[in-house]
Amino acid sequence: MECLEELLKCRYKLAKLVGYDSYGHRGLKGTMAKNPETVMSFLQLLTEKLSQRTAKDFQMMREMKKKLNPRNAELMPWDHPFLSGVLRAERYNIEPSLYSPYLSIGACMEGLNNLFSQLYGVSLMSEHPGAGETWSDDVRKLAVVHETEGLLGYIYCDFFHRRDKPHQDCHFTIRGGRWCQETDQYQLPVVVLMLSLPHPTKSAPTLLTPGMMENLFHEMGHAMHSMLGRTRYQHVTGTRCATDFAEVPSILMEYFATDYRVISQFARHYETGQPLPESMVARLCESKKVCGAADTQLQIFYAVLDQIYHGKPQNRSTTEILKEMQEKFYGLPYIPNTAWQLRFSHLIGYGAKYYSYLMSRAVASMVWNQCFVQDPLNRDMGERYRREMLAHGGAKEPMLMVEGMLQRRPGIEDFVDALVSELNPNFETFLMDSES
Ligand SMILES: [Zn+2]
Repeated sequence: MECLEELLKCRYKLAKLVGYDSYGHRGLKGTMAKNPETVMSFLQLLTEKLSQRTAKDFQMMREMKKKLNPRNAELMPWDHPFLSGVLRAERYNIEPSLYSPYLSIGACMEGLNNLFSQLYGVSLMSEHPGAGETWSDDVRKLAVVHETEGLLGYIYCDFFHRRDKPHQDCHFTIRGGRWCQETDQYQLPVVVLMLSLPHPTKSAPTLLTPGMMENLFHEMGHAMHSMLGRTRYQHVTGTRCATDFAEVPSILMEYFATDYRVISQFARHYETGQPLPESMVARLCESKKVCGAADTQLQIFYAVLDQIYHGKPQNRSTTEILKEMQEKFYGLPYIPNTAWQLRFSHLIGYGAKYYSYLMSRAVASMVWNQCFVQDPLNRDMGERYRREMLAHGGAKEPMLMVEGMLQRRPGIEDFVDALVSELNPNFETFLMDSES
């Protein structure tokens, strides 16, 4: 507790030293949100617009708890993840192992290759690494090649589980792209895409659950941000951009990964060649909306806490602030003598920018709905997306990139509406269910 409170005090002092009102004001410079006031009104408006749905989600959880535990029916914070899982299973019963035979790693990579060639005219080509070039024998090297521009960069795919390898899926840069004045050529970007997939067996290739497939698409979104970036300087290329913009390209890929028109191009049963049935994809998408408002509300609470902690110092402990914000922005009771903030490690790395994921998701949702939902394989939109958003890395103001893509300047209200409308049920899925 002392460490955290000391850290926040020091951060405030640092920010004041260089002329800012608070650490949040300093941290948000150059982001889409620009300042803490905008972040707070985004989180507040989102809370208001979600409030009815959140209340409904908690009510469903309460009823389920009454059924499972009639003697102790009050809904507590630890019930939320468990009961939303129970409700999801009761309604949709998604069994990942029923999906994975359709999602072999080969099929998924083929799907990504198809998608990129249709959107950008770019192919992923397997290349043999030289002796000593990779850090493990199972690392694959992909050359990213454009149909007219030629080689754009390299992606090392470190996909498989290894002892001592971190479990976190991630993308990182080995070398950023940049213009080299000396040679008048572009220094090609080199990145790594790291996952922790199971190895293939004698009888089956590596099979991905829907979650693993979405993660692969997500990380590939980061990698393509680097590959398609064409910036003058390497320190602002690809993913080296404003934190609240950085997840836009990767979250956008999750929309492609859950769209049947994209999935149907590659998801085939590895033994029978049968395509993945459309109804299974639709049910998967609907299952994610179960308790979605309550889940988002929890993220809002975390983001608010991060904002307040990094605002002007207050004459009370971080625990007292947590208690107040939990009641105001979450709704489930605070448990006396606990201090959850001490486990919120993102306070350190994100520092006043934890809201970034919510805002990136809002922008990705707007881009998907306005530019790709009608035709997710549209080349003109792919080119516009590359030109307006991916090419600039962090070298252009992020809201100008969003404006260039959407051809209008969205406001906070649009961001909020984008997130709220995602929770609407898709009526076609209901029809499909009643037909079958
Ligand atoms: Zn990401």
